[in-house]
Amino acid sequence: MHDAEPIPAEARAEIDRLLQSGDLFRYTAPQDAPVALLEAEFAAQLGSKYALAVSSCSAALFLSLKALGLPRDARVMIPGFTFAAVPSSVVHADCIPVLCEVGENYRIDLDDFTTKLETVDAVIISHMRGHTSDMDAIMALCNARNIPVVEDAAHSLGTTWHDKNIGTIGKVGCFSFQSYKMINAGEGGILITDDADLVAQAVIMSGAYEHNWRKHMDRKDNSAELEEAFGRWQNKLPLYNLRMSNLSAAVIRPQLPHLARRVVDGRRNHDQVAELINQSPWISVPPKLDAEVRAPDSLQFNLDNVSDAQVHEFVAAASDLGVKVQVFGLTSDNARAFWNWEFMPEQFDLPQTKSMLLRACDTRLPARLTALECDAVAQVLVEAAETAFGETRAFGT
Ligand SMILES: *Cc1c(COP(=O)(O)O)cnc(C)c1O
Repeated sequence: MHDAEPIPAEARAEIDRLLQSGDLFRYTAPQDAPVALLEAEFAAQLGSKYALAVSSCSAALFLSLKALGLPRDARVMIPGFTFAAVPSSVVHADCIPVLCEVGENYRIDLDDFTTKLETVDAVIISHMRGHTSDMDAIMALCNARNIPVVEDAAHSLGTTWHDKNIGTIGKVGCFSFQSYKMINAGEGGILITDDADLVAQAVIMSGAYEHNWRKHMDRKDNSAELEEAFGRWQNKLPLYNLRMSNLSAAVIRPQLPHLARRVVDGRRNHDQVAELINQSPWISVPPKLDAEVRAPDSLQFNLDNVSDAQVHEFVAAASDLGVKVQVFGLTSDNARAFWNWEFMPEQFDLPQTKSMLLRACDTRLPARLTALECDAVAQVLVEAAETAFGETRAFGT
C-alpha cells in the first residue's frame, strides 16, 4: 500500500549522462537543460503559458505569495483542512494565515469563506487530498473583490473541473513531486501561470541570478512580454535559491507520459473501493462535485455516529487485517489537524472542521493496485467496521 511505482527505465540513460558530464545545475547549459525542458513540457501538458520548477510545492506556494507582492502581515485565507506545509508557506512569506471552515465532504465551506473573504488580501485554495472545492463559486467571489487565488494542487495533478485542469483556474497553480504524490521525484515542485509579470518575479526569486532568466524565454511566442517583465524586476528582488536540480527533472520527465494512465487507474481503484465500503452502515464516502473529475491516489471516508473509543478500535482492527488507516484528528501531532499548527500568529476555532477531522479516515490507495487487491482493501475496511461497531449497534446505542 505504501510502495511507489518504479521510476521508468528511460530515466536511467539521462541520469547516467548527467552523472558523466556532472551537468547538474539548471543554468550551466546554454539551453535545453532538463529542468527547462520539464517546464516547457509541464506547461504544455497542463495548458498554461509558463511553468517554473522549484525544490518543493511549499517553495512554489511561498514564491507565489511573494510574487503577488503581498506586504508583510497581509492576510491569506486557507482551508482549515490541509497539510501543515500550507500555513507554513504563508508564515514563510511574512503573511498571516486565516483559516476557513471545511465541510463533511472535505471541501471549503462557502458561507465561512464568503464571510472571511472581506478580511483577507489573497487566498490559497488547497484541494486537500485532491478534493476540489467549488471553483465556480470561489472564482466568482474572489474576482468580484479582486482577490488573487493561488491553487495548491499538490494532490490534484490530473484532476479536472469542467474539463479544465486544476491548477489553471486560479492566478497560479502549485504542484508537488514529493514521493506520495502522483509523480514521484522524492522532492520537487512546480508552479504554473499565464501571468508574465508574476512568473518573472518567481523565476528571479527562485534563484535566477544575473541574466539567468534568459534561459526561461527560449519559447519565441511569449518571449517579448517575458523579456519586458524580467527587465522590470532585474536586481529588484531577493534570491531565495529554491531551484530544482537537473537530476530531479530527469526523474520527473519520463513519468509525465504515464500520468494519464495513473489518473485513470487511481480513479478506478478509488471508485471501486468507495462503492463497496459505502454499503457499510457506519462508513460514508462523500460524493465528488458535479464539475469534478478526480485523480485520487488515496481514499478518505467518514465514520458515522461512533465514539472516539470505537474509532480507535476500528483503526486497530483494520491494521490487524493489514490496512493502515489514519484518522486526521485522532493521532497525536497529526500535521493535518489545524489545532497542531501552534506556530501560526493567530489561532482559529473551527468546530465544523474539527468534528470532521475527528471522524475522517485516510488510507493510501496507489494507482498500481489490481481490482482484486482493491476488493481486499474494501473487505478489510468493512470487516473492521463490523468488528468495531457491530456489537454495540445490536444493543441499540
Ligand atoms: C504534499 C502537500 C504539500 C507540500 O508539498 P511539498 O512538495 O512536500 O512541499 C502542500 N499541500 C498539499 C495539499 C500537499 O498534499
